[in-house]
Amino acid sequence: EGKRLGGRAPVAFGALIEEGVRNALVLERALRTALAARPEEFSVAYQPILGIDGRFRRAEALARWTSAEHGEVPPDRFIALAEKAGLVIDLGRIILGRVRDDLAADAGLRVSVNISSLQLLAPDFIADLVADLRARSIDPARIQVELTESVLVRDPAQAARHLHELRAAGFGVALDDFGTGYSSVAYLDQLSFDTLKIDRSFVSEVRHSPKRHALLRTMIQMAHGLDLEVVCEGVESEDDLRLLAELGCDLVQGFHLGRPMPVSELSALRLTASDRAAA
Ligand code: C2E
Ligand code: MG
Ligand code: MG
Ligand code: MG
Repeated sequence: EGKRLGGRAPVAFGALIEEGVRNALVLERALRTALAARPEEFSVAYQPILGIDGRFRRAEALARWTSAEHGEVPPDRFIALAEKAGLVIDLGRIILGRVRDDLAADAGLRVSVNISSLQLLAPDFIADLVADLRARSIDPARIQVELTESVLVRDPAQAARHLHELRAAGFGVALDDFGTGYSSVAYLDQLSFDTLKIDRSFVSEVRHSPKRHALLRTMIQMAHGLDLEVVCEGVESEDDLRLLAELGCDLVQGFHLGRPMPVSELSALRLTASDRAAA
């Protein structure tokens, strides 16, 4: 691509930027419309998280958007867009509503959900969520909230209070995507996480790098020293799984163990997984 632009780069680049901005605006308008008037365009896919013993533990709820005009839009794209456009609270409300309904329909289901920092720091977020769950008799302990470091970087003191409030209400709390970004170890002893999720980019590089291997081992030991359960993301092969078992990883998640899927398929997989673990 870059080479083809060659000598005419300045002109072509300018045109590309313009097109990019226009596309982002068009997509933002579609997102706004869908959130306001077509909530059925959004759905939740669940990806299984298994114990290293193969037992089903919970499923990560992942937002999906199938736009009438744009088709499947990748989550990284529309979530970033929603955050920029001030729409992430509305989006989160739809996703959490679906998750709540799925939890109400299946008493054996436990989930983790991704919450963006803007959601967490919204004044009534936790109180509203707790009230909503109580109205349906859903125990908050069935939900683990996944947060990324951005929430801690933005306002550490405020984040600490909200985390504490989540824990007090009975939710599990995981630090997501550990091993990317700042990964400030300093936060870990002050904040009340119970789970550390090691980012998949980190896990995939372990196969090729002895240093990464040593780092991953150390990260897992550190997490255990802090009484945190460790989830390794991005398990794509039997080799990955064996390696992570050796390193003492507690929970695993990845395409090798299950792709994100509709809730109906998840119940079938849960049964097979527990059969396999029992055998
Ligand atoms: P995440 O929370 O780190 O979620 C894991 C992502 O890794 C998912 O991407 C999942 O499909 C992908 N993944 C899982 N196993 C593998 C594997 O073995 N190989 C590879 N290559 N990928 C794997 P997805 O669904 O595209 O979501 C991307 C990100 O979007 C999530 O990363 C999360 O940060 C965000 N996200 C998704 N749903 C929500 C939501 O409801 N709210 C918020 N705030 N963010 C969300
Ligand atoms: Mg996550
Ligand atoms: Mg992650
Ligand atoms: Mg991620």
